[in-house]
Amino acid sequence: MGDAPPEDVGGPGGFEEFLKIIDAPSHEEHKETTKWAKSQQWKPFDIDVVARRVNANHGRINNATKSKIAVPDGTIEEAILQPLNMARSVLDFMEKNPDRWGTVIVPEPQWICDNCGFPARIIVDDNLANEIGKLCVNCYNRLMAEYTGSSIPDIVPTQLSVKGRNGKPVEFEVEFLVFADGMSLTATEMGKRKRRADVYGAIDDDFNTMLETLINRIKIALSVKYMEKDGYISGTNAVGYIEYNHERDACDIIIDGMPYSWAELEKNVPVHEGWKIKIEFASVGDELD
Ligand SMILES: [Zn+2]
Repeated sequence: MGDAPPEDVGGPGGFEEFLKIIDAPSHEEHKETTKWAKSQQWKPFDIDVVARRVNANHGRINNATKSKIAVPDGTIEEAILQPLNMARSVLDFMEKNPDRWGTVIVPEPQWICDNCGFPARIIVDDNLANEIGKLCVNCYNRLMAEYTGSSIPDIVPTQLSVKGRNGKPVEFEVEFLVFADGMSLTATEMGKRKRRADVYGAIDDDFNTMLETLINRIKIALSVKYMEKDGYISGTNAVGYIEYNHERDACDIIIDGMPYSWAELEKNVPVHEGWKIKIEFASVGDELD
């Protein structure tokens, strides 16, 4: 997507400042920052991503139609922004039926957003499995921000690059979701390993604080190693998360970002014969260690 923070940008605050400068050709540090970004192999903005960000910045969801946006080469482009009539009807339903709507988040985007045509991740239904609308994450967040009356940030990174144990950067995909009663930020490792970190906040929590917590949790996820290569737990405990596996039609337990079946973990039982054991489940927002 091209908006992962470059190395050494100076944390979330620094990244936000960096994006502001990159976005503003008139800023006195624009030229120098653009040059520095290139030296960091930072990829320029995707025009669609910028358009969606600008769109997200327009507050009331029906207002946005056209906007001038700055692109990295210093020129100004006109972006056509989608009207939000479909999202408006979804919001109308939510407002008129406060106890009669729910959302289903689909694991992979399979449909097209009713509003903007991007891949849809969220189905809004009437609690009786009748679909009200299909929305992409961006349109859904704007809708929920309006529904809850909260302000969502203009700029939300969709990727983060964090140094791992060997000093090499590890790329994470970031998803921001606004719910009726809170917000979540989830980072999932891109690639074969799927280490994950998440933060849940209240509807009025500070986004940058959440992002900082997320980065710290990614660092923790990258610093721990519970499993040996042979499938034995190296210490006396292991923490992971449970995820449905379509191929097996069963749940995997993801530890150190790698999937294990319950049966595969079982070999850890006989080697501790006579020991005590604790099995603890925690909901997504809770930290286990
Ligand atoms: Zn959309």
